[in-house]
Amino acid sequence: MLITDCIPTVKSLIEQGAISVSGHDELIEKFSEFISLKGFHFDTSKIKFGPNLTHLEDEIYLDLFKKNQKDRDSYEVLYSLDFSDRISLTAHCHSEQGKSLHLLFTAENTPALDKNALFEALYQLLDNSQYFLVCQKCNQLVDSKLIDIRTEPVCAVGSCSKTFKQVFDVSKIDRITSSRYDEIRVAVFDDEIVIFNAVTFWPHPHESFPGLDIKETLPLSSTPAEVRALKAEIEAEQKFPADCFYCKEEVSEGKGMELSDFINKETNEVICYGCATEHHNVIY
Ligand SMILES: [Zn+2]
Ligand SMILES: [Zn+2]
Repeated sequence: MLITDCIPTVKSLIEQGAISVSGHDELIEKFSEFISLKGFHFDTSKIKFGPNLTHLEDEIYLDLFKKNQKDRDSYEVLYSLDFSDRISLTAHCHSEQGKSLHLLFTAENTPALDKNALFEALYQLLDNSQYFLVCQKCNQLVDSKLIDIRTEPVCAVGSCSKTFKQVFDVSKIDRITSSRYDEIRVAVFDDEIVIFNAVTFWPHPHESFPGLDIKETLPLSSTPAEVRALKAEIEAEQKFPADCFYCKEEVSEGKGMELSDFINKETNEVICYGCATEHHNVIY
């Protein structure tokens, strides 16, 4: 188990209003665009497998930020992000004694400030913040000062009933779903975890359709580590996309063939349909 599997994801924090955002609208808007491009989540109701033109969109984070600000009182804030003249990220730790604030990051908002580097730094801080950890015994989010991480993270005072719990739904932490930009993608459905990729389907010899193809499925009980291992295994076996052996153009899955089908030799090279016709007399 990786320690990051016990840390809330940025998405789960935003969705639960656990990050309050304030400051210049323009910076907030740019930051939400940046997070969308991280693209680690799909709306599974829109994923259809098979030959069709599925356009996978991420959720719009700006709306989530705005919603958070509107109904902030109904949530518990764990982190606040201030995009004013002095940019800051602060952790809010709740306990019986009330709330304590801890400054994690600060920078002067100047025109020279590299906004992409800033956003990446903030994202990494949030995504890897060991300020709070999920206890693997009581499955609650706890101030990491109260957590023993020697083996796996568990409440340190001996009994989970004694530690103060942060208000957070840990079931929404999803370190399995992959980026929509990955060649091999992972999405968590209501009944199973699906590993899939984008391919070109050929229902008829002269008709092709782009679509999504299921590579492998896993039960919902799979651990993030198991999913990552299977994804890596599929990625290693994946022959496409690759450059055509002859013309060197990139060939994606469904747009070419394996060279070993045509020559008497073991090879991982692929060839595009055009070169299959030109060099091996393949007729469609
Ligand atoms: Zn516990
Ligand atoms: Zn070619």
